[in-house]
Amino acid sequence: MKLIDQHGRAFTYARIAIVDQCNLRCNYCMPEEGLKWISKKNWIQPDEFASIFKAFQEWGINKIRFTGGEPFVRPDFIKIAQHALDTGFSNIAITTNGTLLRNKISNLKKWGISKVNVSLDTLNPDRFHQITRRNLFHDVWSSINALHENQISFRINTVLLRDTSESEVLEMMQMADEKNWEWCFIEEMPFNGQGVAPDWNWNWRKIQSLIQSHFPSAQHVSMSSGDTTEYYKLKNGGRIGFIAAFSRTFCGTCNRLRLTPNGHLYHCLYSQESYPLLDRLRAGNTMQDLHHEIQQFLWKKAINGFEAEKENGNQMPSMAQIGG
Ligand code: SAM
Ligand code: SF4
Repeated sequence: MKLIDQHGRAFTYARIAIVDQCNLRCNYCMPEEGLKWISKKNWIQPDEFASIFKAFQEWGINKIRFTGGEPFVRPDFIKIAQHALDTGFSNIAITTNGTLLRNKISNLKKWGISKVNVSLDTLNPDRFHQITRRNLFHDVWSSINALHENQISFRINTVLLRDTSESEVLEMMQMADEKNWEWCFIEEMPFNGQGVAPDWNWNWRKIQSLIQSHFPSAQHVSMSSGDTTEYYKLKNGGRIGFIAAFSRTFCGTCNRLRLTPNGHLYHCLYSQESYPLLDRLRAGNTMQDLHHEIQQFLWKKAINGFEAEKENGNQMPSMAQIGG
């Protein structure tokens, strides 16, 4: 019953965007006025998630990541996560902007969340305001510190923007070293929902050479199948790494499927082809009825993001719509 693509890769990791709405407006993700939000009645409901999780687990998915939009904006997130726990998933991760996390820390501990990725693109509160169009740097920073104090495994994700300076990147790397944190730098992708391509100043090679020149004792960690982050281990135990999200150097072993808030399955961020899973469920089918169709859809996954992009035309949806 495993889900396999035409290149023999098994799908074991589901990235699930539970909502497209967000309380920030990061300029590299969405326009200032937000997006044309999916109406609530078209969100996957908790009981629908319960059937999806059960089937996914039977079909070989062993890791779930909740993302969005901002997952903590959705009021019933706790119910949804509880269904994933009840299904027996032991590897459940969350990607969040961290603004609403501070008072959820005890829940995260209770749920046994495996890992939280917090997005933070700058250490400067004014620049944070400029990038996100909201003045909430200190909320994110206090969430990160609370994760640290409560010993919840976390990583900071920083998207490398045109105006991100080398000195700021180095400051972040040094902080990772001092605090033994994990910090990952991500190439910007064209998914800003604004129809304009970014002005690329950074790529993974620049980050790699910064790591090698400033942290000569850092040890390269070999990547496992399905990994997208290339890590370097620092002498005190912290890790810095990068994701070649635009250069797409890691696609060969991709094991991911994506589910959008309105229940469309995607096999790649760079592909526009989707399968209307929620519509098919609401038409009266069970997940078991749909296994064959889903397998047929996922079978078509392209070998890499460049091939997937060829189907795409010039579409540049927001990451919040496809689930970052
Ligand atoms: N709101 C949550 C957050 O910001 O972490 C989860 C959703 S967000 C779409 C997931 C990740 O995608 C974040 O790390 C964000 O920085 C990243 N992201 C958004 N737009 C991007 C883009 N155009 N290029 C690269 N990464 C992007
Ligand atoms: Fe919101 Fe995350 Fe997009 Fe920023 S990157 S606007 S926090 S969904």
